Amino acid sequence: VDASRAVPHLSPRSLPSRCSTLIVGAGLAGLEVARRLDEQGCSDVAVLEAGPAADLRHVNATSDPVQALRKWLEPATDPWFRRPWRSRTEPHYAGGSGLRQRLGGRSLYWYGITLPLEPWALRAPWWPAPVVHDLCRSWQSGPGLYARTSEELGWRDARAEEESPATCSIAGLHLRPTPRAIRRINGDRDRWYAYSPLDHWRDPVTGESRQDASGVSIHTLARVLSLVVADGRVRGARVESPGRAPALIRCDRAVLAGGTIENSRLIIQALHTAGELREARLGGLADHIVQGVFTRLDQRRAGRVLESLGLGSFYAPLPETRSNLFLDIQPARGGEMVLELQLTGEQVRSDASYVECVPSDRLAWDVAVTSRPSREDRALIAAQQELLREAWAALSALWGGRTSGLEFADYEHPRRTNAFILPESIRATRAGEPAPWANSLGTEDHEGGTLALGERLDEHGELSSLPGGFVVGPSTFPRLGAANPSLTTLALARRLAIHLTGA
Ligand SMILES: Cc1cc2nc3c(=O)[nH]c(=O)nc-3n(C[C@H](O)[C@H](O)[C@H](O)COP(=O)(O)OP(=O)(O)OC[C@H]3O[C@@H](n4cnc5c(N)ncnc54)[C@H](O)[C@@H]3O)c2cc1C
Repeated sequence: VDASRAVPHLSPRSLPSRCSTLIVGAGLAGLEVARRLDEQGCSDVAVLEAGPAADLRHVNATSDPVQALRKWLEPATDPWFRRPWRSRTEPHYAGGSGLRQRLGGRSLYWYGITLPLEPWALRAPWWPAPVVHDLCRSWQSGPGLYARTSEELGWRDARAEEESPATCSIAGLHLRPTPRAIRRINGDRDRWYAYSPLDHWRDPVTGESRQDASGVSIHTLARVLSLVVADGRVRGARVESPGRAPALIRCDRAVLAGGTIENSRLIIQALHTAGELREARLGGLADHIVQGVFTRLDQRRAGRVLESLGLGSFYAPLPETRSNLFLDIQPARGGEMVLELQLTGEQVRSDASYVECVPSDRLAWDVAVTSRPSREDRALIAAQQELLREAWAALSALWGGRTSGLEFADYEHPRRTNAFILPESIRATRAGEPAPWANSLGTEDHEGGTLALGERLDEHGELSSLPGGFVVGPSTFPRLGAANPSLTTLALARRLAIHLTGA
């Protein structure tokens, strides 16, 4: 599908010289703001996306499951993978850590897991009380944003509903089907797509346009190099397009939605230049700490597991460990099964993890990321490993396997990452043998926390020291909690859009 021909208004040829609202980045957060502004009838909105309008469909709609998985876990196979920063603390924020630089961003890759942040993460003093109220209790005199957004996404994993039992139990834990905003294409279990705000403009199955016009213009191959600040306000942005000199676009306000590291770069440049930030860095960077264990089960062992558990994806919240446990049981070739246990836990925001720029005369400054697990994080890593050992013992008892001896490597030097789930690695293991793994920080694609609501931003996401500059996406989270971030990202993007329209 030639995206620019199928949906011409999503990729107009020339950049405007001014607009009312300029949105930087056309991924999950930026496009959700644009979509909601469009629904409100706003007409002077320009979205700038550094990447091209490539095929506008989700990778699991256009690729078979192994290819799609490979694009994520072996990013060299994805032509749109970019990492516009360097890591000072590899393996963190290196390897698979990066952006998917194309119209749609990571909304064309995500798995649709939509969980609200937990009450223990949302409590004072971290998240501002009005935000928590709007998310959890009531927004605009109706249900809260979590309830509205979940209901609108309202898509459960069709296969989970058809084939899985409602709950399952292991090691005394009750697991429920994982809510996922995905739809299968023509009932095919291997082809599906997750929600993208692009669904507002184009058909997620064919990639074709759904409407002739939109009050929002989306400009691709347009990278924002820096914000333009005058008289203490954001007044515009300098934008680079291939083969052209950087252009100036004036605006009344800019909404930064370029992902956590790019948002941080743009704000560091603006605040440091304005004398509002002494060191060219923002702390508080955090990602989820994720560890797990895979195993391949032959037909005989798989059969024994299926006597007690069903196929599907399940989860259980574990507040004491600030983590969620996920259990995934999927069929594989020849009657085999792949079983995966995973814990996703909160990394605590701290100034020891930060995004840093090198000030220069260039319009876009170089960026470096420093991140390591803190002492508190290391305690969580150890607690997760203990829990995984217990859960693994309970699971392997189901097929009469070895219930002890689950050995984890040092988190700083993982022997295996989640890329081990690729078929060639899994096939190389002995059936029933556990393969423990851990993700390095920044590779879970949940990075956030550098521009927290209620700290540098007011409760709507506007920079207190730079009016006219707004931020959306996980970078604005004052605490990450254990939940995957996108339900909160979508809810807050909608909240911001309505705030901007004054509705
Ligand atoms: C394989 C995969 C599975 C995932 N599964 C889940 C899940 O199940 N549940 C969940 O909650 N989350 C999931 N995530 C994470 C989720 O996708 C991200 O948290 C989310 O997409 C972040 O949204 P964003 O808009 O901040 O960034 P992005 O979606 O990355 O969008 C940023 C966009 O901005 C553009 N950009 C950056 N800088 C500039 C600039 N200077 N000028 C112009 N454009 C710029 C980029 O090219 C990109 O298109 C998953 C991610 C991946 C990769």
